[in-house]
Amino acid sequence: MSTKITLIPGDGIGPEVISSARRIVDEVVDVTWEIVEAGESAIQRYRTPLPDHVIESVRKNKIALKGPITTPVGSGFRSVNVEIRKRLDLFANVRPAKSIPYLSKYNDVDLVIVRENTEDLYAGIEFEVGKEETKEFLNFLKRYGVGIKEDSGISIKPISISGSERIVDFAFRYAENNHRKKVTAVHKANIMKFSDGLFLNVARKVAERYNIEFEDRIVDNMAMQLVQKPELYEVIVTPNLYGDILSDLCAGLVGGLGIAPGANIGEHYAVFEPVHGSAPKYAGQNKVNPTATILSAVMMLRHLGEIKKADLIERCTIEVISEGKQVTYDIARITGSTPVGTSEMTDAIIKKIRACDPETL
Ligand code: NAP
Repeated sequence: MSTKITLIPGDGIGPEVISSARRIVDEVVDVTWEIVEAGESAIQRYRTPLPDHVIESVRKNKIALKGPITTPVGSGFRSVNVEIRKRLDLFANVRPAKSIPYLSKYNDVDLVIVRENTEDLYAGIEFEVGKEETKEFLNFLKRYGVGIKEDSGISIKPISISGSERIVDFAFRYAENNHRKKVTAVHKANIMKFSDGLFLNVARKVAERYNIEFEDRIVDNMAMQLVQKPELYEVIVTPNLYGDILSDLCAGLVGGLGIAPGANIGEHYAVFEPVHGSAPKYAGQNKVNPTATILSAVMMLRHLGEIKKADLIERCTIEVISEGKQVTYDIARITGSTPVGTSEMTDAIIKKIRACDPETL
């Protein structure tokens, strides 16, 4: 029976990398793709970057593969990516980073960042400088002895007990299910005692329920530790902002954003997308690396229980990268080879998949 999956191509390089992942999934699984537009193309058509039918489609199919969506910097509409995660309550953002032979600067990285996806400074609670409600809020704070400069903009950082508990519990369950031996909680609890401190206290309590090693690190130290000895870390659980930053750092350790996949998981729905953004400067050039989106599709297939097919796609993709002949510019500039385009690298992966013994599926 055909599996129905929502497909959101996204902005910039999104349509190209999504097309690659779709071609590859179509090689091994019978999928009916329900294509919906969000982001810049949706604004032109529906006057909103996130039409309700996009959310409805994911609610109906329960699963989506998504390309990156542009967010204007500093002004303009709020992040559609953040909004999708909030509206579907996709509270866990899972971002693995694993060394690839002949590509990665480090040979022994095999860690997963589990990032809280709905709270923290990404909650979207902001007060714009000079606005009437901002002045009222500042006056309210003044009554409690909190003096903030009148020409300030404010972003609020909520971190709840329930939100922290479910993400840390998710990280421990992930560790259990994937035979990982250690969970590391990352925070800045020495400075933000009532938000990050709360996160850390909850993490310590949740850790008591599991027979898995637990430790914590302050985020600035963690950044240094990850560059010096990333092999020490297995599952890293963290509030939203640190998880976003550290996962890009970890992508850099193993070969860059072009190979970094991700999954947004909730109780009822899951949306799979690369860690990278829409890289507008490369849009429409058949240039960027499709691997991050292909490996996000691999995570999606595992989520659907298609383990062997997921393993096959992953193996063929890694082989093409390690051989270094049919790879995009970002890999070629590390390995010193001549780059090919997005679609040519995709063709090479498909050729490998087709050459495999169907018995292995
Ligand atoms: P970006 O789009 O991730 O691009 C940053 C750099 O990463 C690129 O210039 C390129 O590096 C490299 N890169 C990204 N994707 C690649 C790929 N598939 N293959 C090879 N290299 C790749 O980050 P950004 O420029 O900061 O953000 C652009 C837009 O994307 C913003 O509007 C941002 O808000 C949005 N964004 C969306 C998501 C999402 O949809 N989930 C996530 C992050 C950012 P080189 O320049 O070295 O070639």
